Amino acid sequence: QNYQSVALIVGVTGIVGSSLAEILPLSDTPGGPWKVYGLARRPRPVWNSDNPIEYIQCDISDKNDTVLKLSPLKDVTNIFYVCWANRVLESENCKINSRMFQNVLNAVIPNAPNLKHICLQTGLKHYYGPFEYWGKIEKPLEPPFSEDMPRLDVPNFYYDLEDILYEEAGKKDGGLTWSVHRPGAIFGFSPYSMMNLVGTLSVYAAICKHEGMPLRFPGLKVAWECYSQASDADLIAEHQIWAAVDPYAKNEAFNCSNGDVFKWKQLWGVLGEQFEMEVPEFEEGERVSLVEMMKGKERVWEEIVKVNNLVPTKLEEVGNWWFADSIECGVSIGYYEQEQGAWVFGV
Ligand code: NAD
Repeated sequence: QNYQSVALIVGVTGIVGSSLAEILPLSDTPGGPWKVYGLARRPRPVWNSDNPIEYIQCDISDKNDTVLKLSPLKDVTNIFYVCWANRVLESENCKINSRMFQNVLNAVIPNAPNLKHICLQTGLKHYYGPFEYWGKIEKPLEPPFSEDMPRLDVPNFYYDLEDILYEEAGKKDGGLTWSVHRPGAIFGFSPYSMMNLVGTLSVYAAICKHEGMPLRFPGLKVAWECYSQASDADLIAEHQIWAAVDPYAKNEAFNCSNGDVFKWKQLWGVLGEQFEMEVPEFEEGERVSLVEMMKGKERVWEEIVKVNNLVPTKLEEVGNWWFADSIECGVSIGYYEQEQGAWVFGV
């Protein structure tokens, strides 16, 4: 087959990587027909095996492995970088994420003469800082956030990735373009994602149901009652594909969210409906953290997987409890509640 474009998705088993792997090979995708390479650290999972992509298992934090696996890909025209490593300290995040991104670019750019465009996915933490600094930033930016707002004066691996991108693209003298995509909390599918809110809450609901526990909302009242926003993984994937093919979308950063808003009390109703569970009224009082509540539930999850004949997964893979806690009860929410009145922001 004659391909018009050749994609390398870095992080193909992730929440947006999975959407890209589904959408890029479709016959009506702009810029197509697309040949698609999809890279991730682990062996190809069964749930991703239907997508017509060439799967590459590679650890991009390892320079030699990256050169070995990526330097032979001479036909790549577009990189979609939807990958990251998560460390507690942002200084560590900066080091590891810069190394991973640089390893990929060093292996691909000199070997792929037709490389035209790089999409880099970061997120809204660009504006209100990394998790480590939530609630500690002296001069926070005031939402709503626009792409041209100045950077915060704290370390942020998103800034480092952008700087690497600008530098590498600059070396090719206009021949290589880029776009940066900044979604909020992403709603999508991937059992391998490090931050999958909907998946995590579904696992929580399944455990509550299995154990006969009420489906309590683990967040703050402000999250329950105020507006939240989210970014659909398919929408972000389409946004990146648009930027990859549209000549007017080059060398720009874009926020990317669905635009509509929801309240957690509404979404909790949907969750209850899906799992055929009653949704209790919001309870005032001490907050319940998912991290605490889900401690020691590994066996319960194993049982649920077995009884329902699910694709085997480990609880720590599909339950990103810390993330759900931070979205629904995040340190930032207290701040925005006081300062902004009505808005609750996701990452
Ligand atoms: P993810 O956690 O869903 O997936 C990460 C992917 O990267 C996986 O395919 C994994 O295999 C791969 N990967 C990780 N380490 C690797 C390594 N060493 N070698 C090879 N592959 C490796 O990713 P995501 O949530 O889409 O995150 C991408 C970016 O989007 C991050 O910067 C993140 O902060 C940002 N973001 C995410 C969310 C969200 O809700 N998930 C929201 C806003 C911004």
